[in-house]
Amino acid sequence: MGDVNLEVAGVLLDMAALAGDSQRGWGYTRAAKAVLRLDRHITPLIHANTFTAVPGIGPTTDRIAREVIHDGHSTFVERAIQEAGKEEDVRTLRGLRHHYLSRAAVHDILSRRGTPSRAKYRGDFQMHSVWSDGAESLDSIADACLARGHRCAGITDHSYGLPIAGGMTMAQVAQQHAAIDILNAAYKGRFRMFTGIEANIRSDGTVDMEPDELRQFEFVVASPHSLLRKSVDQTARMVGAVSQPGVCLLGHPQGRRFNVRPGVTADWDQVFEVAARREVAIEIDGSWDRQDVHYELAARALSKGCLFALDSDAHSHPELDFIDIAIAHARLAAIPQERIINYWTEVKFLKWAKGAWDR
Ligand SMILES: [Zn+2]
Repeated sequence: MGDVNLEVAGVLLDMAALAGDSQRGWGYTRAAKAVLRLDRHITPLIHANTFTAVPGIGPTTDRIAREVIHDGHSTFVERAIQEAGKEEDVRTLRGLRHHYLSRAAVHDILSRRGTPSRAKYRGDFQMHSVWSDGAESLDSIADACLARGHRCAGITDHSYGLPIAGGMTMAQVAQQHAAIDILNAAYKGRFRMFTGIEANIRSDGTVDMEPDELRQFEFVVASPHSLLRKSVDQTARMVGAVSQPGVCLLGHPQGRRFNVRPGVTADWDQVFEVAARREVAIEIDGSWDRQDVHYELAARALSKGCLFALDSDAHSHPELDFIDIAIAHARLAAIPQERIINYWTEVKFLKWAKGAWDR
């Protein structure tokens, strides 16, 4: 699909890479971010000569964007890459920007009628609170979700195996669950918070918690947080993760980051086949710099019969809106709404999550 804002941001990031850690480099990065954050396409702004009115956009960016829109590429940028002899580096970098969506593209996709629906979305199943590396308390998360029209949410703070992300000890988990019980009693009938955990997938495909610990949660997300820059095949690791009893959701399966790292290399068809058999949902993580899995991989997972989760992976309230990005990818992948856990009733969700111990 054509996403001019993403293309223009990409060549600006090429320029940032050439300029390195310098005033010019930061300027290009800032301009790229401004373009990615715009909620409308830049082509009409270029035609109306108003693009430079956007904060962070200067005359050079305007020139580069004009070239991309008119010619499909920027001669100015291509020449700079050639002169610096950085063709190889830039090619690698460009490989780290495939299948992402700019904010304008997401707006575009969601502004059309279609499914999965934004209005019928019931709740988000990956988010972090002050109990690990998130910024918000449980009460304020419930209110922020209610304000967005959600009926439920799954809290998935990090496990103790990931101390760098403030992972919870099991004693803290017990305290958190007591707090969630109190919250659920207070919000009864209006909102339901589910106790989840984001367990970390080790290099051998096991998760970093014991089965009796995992059983204390209503649902378990397993996600990779290491070995995300290696090009060695990690199919066995990911198959191991989706085969583990109790795991019902594979979080940000690739572990990729926009313009930073490629994430896990694996035979995804094989991973998806096992996930489908065990009814482990494949997450579309909507964090703007993750977008993981993206629409093409999601369509492959769908063809293997997978279930899905569309989550924000929010660490603060504004990030709850990342579900829009996940919904946009799901629409491009044409995922039927009934295959997505975020649209299920509480009873159906809990039955499925518990079933992960017996499948
Ligand atoms: Zn994670």
